[in-house]
Amino acid sequence: QLRSSAELISAEEPVLAHNYHPLPVVVARAEGTWVEDVEGRRYLDMLAGYSALNFGHRHPALVEAAHRQLDRLTLTSRAFHNDRLARFAESLAALTGLDMVLPMNTGAEAVESAVKVARKWAYEVKGVAPDRATIVVAADNFHGRTTTIVSFSTDESARAGFGPFTPGFRVVPYNDLAALEAAVDETTAAVLIEPIQGEAGVVIPDDGYLRGVRELTRRTGCLFVADEIQSGLGRTGRTLAVDHEDVVPDVLLLGKALGGGIVPVSAVVARRDVLEVLRPGEHGSTFGGNPLSAAVGSAVVELLETGEFQRRAAELGVVLRGGLAALEGRGVRAFRARGLWAGVDIDPAIGTGRQISERLMREGVLVKDTHGSTIRLAPPLTITGDELRTALGALEKVLVEG
Ligand code: PLP
Repeated sequence: QLRSSAELISAEEPVLAHNYHPLPVVVARAEGTWVEDVEGRRYLDMLAGYSALNFGHRHPALVEAAHRQLDRLTLTSRAFHNDRLARFAESLAALTGLDMVLPMNTGAEAVESAVKVARKWAYEVKGVAPDRATIVVAADNFHGRTTTIVSFSTDESARAGFGPFTPGFRVVPYNDLAALEAAVDETTAAVLIEPIQGEAGVVIPDDGYLRGVRELTRRTGCLFVADEIQSGLGRTGRTLAVDHEDVVPDVLLLGKALGGGIVPVSAVVARRDVLEVLRPGEHGSTFGGNPLSAAVGSAVVELLETGEFQRRAAELGVVLRGGLAALEGRGVRAFRARGLWAGVDIDPAIGTGRQISERLMREGVLVKDTHGSTIRLAPPLTITGDELRTALGALEKVLVEG
């Protein structure tokens, strides 16, 4: 039977784990930049599934690729080959300027896979003593939720109660090349960082940091692993956030938008001499590289090959920055933005990030707070200038008029 938003929200309470605190909106359908709730109210989606919906909801080319594949073949497992995977890997390697692809499903799985690959590379290629490999990561990172990944989180709420943790990680401040240099030694397998820290509040390092990480890892003989699961695939106005500094990492992690908001698709994309350390039986995933994911992933790469989404993110990014700059001192304390991606620190006197998100929801705009008084804006890259101005107008109303 039909149930209201309020009924559906309270129906979740006893039967769903309470590991999220969603805004009180129950989405029933969506198209492009817009979602509609159970009662038919429409909202501009300024979160885009944490950047999994870079191409908007139900992009026609992606839906068509999925439908076509659903009618032919959905899963083989990697026990057999499928006729979609080669094309996906070829096009993703070409898009990123790297050689080989390890297909997985979720972002956390890609990160876990990269940790394993980097360690194995350290032992087999670099000659690190058995079980001594270290991986250097940045404070305030977010790489996912598995036991190993939260082992090197600095967010107590992500860690508390989940120990014992996986050893072998060193944490240094983000955007600090001297600290990184001091932490790297002969045991270092890799430096793993987000080129822009998304969950931390869209924290953008200084110009030259990524080039510095590239230079340091090359000079000291360890791998540069760039987690672009949130920053990649058009979001920042380039295909990858590392493109802004013309840097190519040794290992690139992709997820979220790689599945077009339709299926979970992630990948470790790397140089041949790195990914070649994996041999049959040493790593895998039942769903990784399945033909449905490969078909949608290939269609995503085709969209990115046009350059249209990167261009839109860059051009509309100017509108976003301008709108936020006009709110500085009027409810916005500070903001950081690149492309169609911004972390906005709200004046705590006006409200918490959560309260601002709830008020925006009542104005028909969906965002999500990250830490305390920060909200993140990350609309689909298909958003129009008018839609973006509508969202900025709602933000102004909420901040200035209260
Ligand atoms: N890495 C980064 C940079 C992310 O932002 C996220 C998710 O927010 C992940 C990894 C984890 O991805 P997933 O939630 O698909 O496991």
